[in-house]
Amino acid sequence: MIISGEQIISRLKDELNDALASYKGTPHISVVLNIEDNPSRSYIKSITKVARDNGFRITLYEVDSNTSEEELEEIVKVLATDDDVDGIIITRPYVVRMKREIINRVPKWKDIDGQTDANIAALYKKEDGLFPATPLAVMEFFKEVNYKLTGKHVVIVGRSTTVGLPLFHMLLSEDATCTVCHSKTENLKEFTNKADVVISAAGHPGLITEDMVQNATFLIDVAINIVEGKIVGDMAINFEEKEYKEKGLMFITPVPGGVGPVTSYMLLLNTIKGMRKRGKLP
Ligand code: NAD
Repeated sequence: MIISGEQIISRLKDELNDALASYKGTPHISVVLNIEDNPSRSYIKSITKVARDNGFRITLYEVDSNTSEEELEEIVKVLATDDDVDGIIITRPYVVRMKREIINRVPKWKDIDGQTDANIAALYKKEDGLFPATPLAVMEFFKEVNYKLTGKHVVIVGRSTTVGLPLFHMLLSEDATCTVCHSKTENLKEFTNKADVVISAAGHPGLITEDMVQNATFLIDVAINIVEGKIVGDMAINFEEKEYKEKGLMFITPVPGGVGPVTSYMLLLNTIKGMRKRGKLP
């Protein structure tokens, strides 16, 4: 079965509508955008559309390698203390002068992509917090089909602080057994072939092929790669639906139209959660 982002989004939209039904204001997200990074610009462009379509306001603060440390500090300080700002995103890669001290000025319940030390610690310690949107989106795919992760062996390909590492903690919390592979892993195939679930977030088109997922029942492709002007994931697996079943493969996510669109909604839902924690929503 192919699980599209769209089917998950219709459920998430209901959650958003319910949360905002009695709210008189407009939730407001501010983005500190590194304009020198093209993927960040297109990422924020799609988030802006989703946010506006769902009744959120978005404001952009454009920064680049010439922005001084004082200016960055001032922007974040203003956003942190403005009660009208409900969520703050600082795009990655950060501009050169964006120090951890500045990022950590973002209040825990406005840090809607889970980048501050407070939220990273909360994830590691299984405490309440706002966690990175992409791994949260991945977890929605399991929830969508009621897939029980207890005791399942999950291989994550990629160990970035935005995807692989937070995902590892989220999966452990669901009692999965996790292996994290990365660019220095030798014989990747030996690991992926033992997995019940393979999640790829390497950004390497064609990395995962059919012969590498012989025992998997769930495949999640997080990657967004551009090849000859087209968006593709890491997985070069072109089974027909009938063949999935013959191979015992139960679930697979597409690229495009899989994890990517769900990620934007997780940012909106994190904003709602933060507003609740700040007492702005019931
Ligand atoms: P990154 O470059 O920070 O990390 C990539 C990771 O993959 C690293 O840990 C690296 O060790 C590993 N890796 C790279 N090549 C590998 C190989 N050949 N074998 C095994 N491991 C390898 O990237 P990121 O920010 O984590 O993003 C990863 C991918 O996910 C990219 O394609 C990115 O576009 C995509 N992404 C998607 C979303 C979304 O919403 N769907 C959000 C963020 C990132």
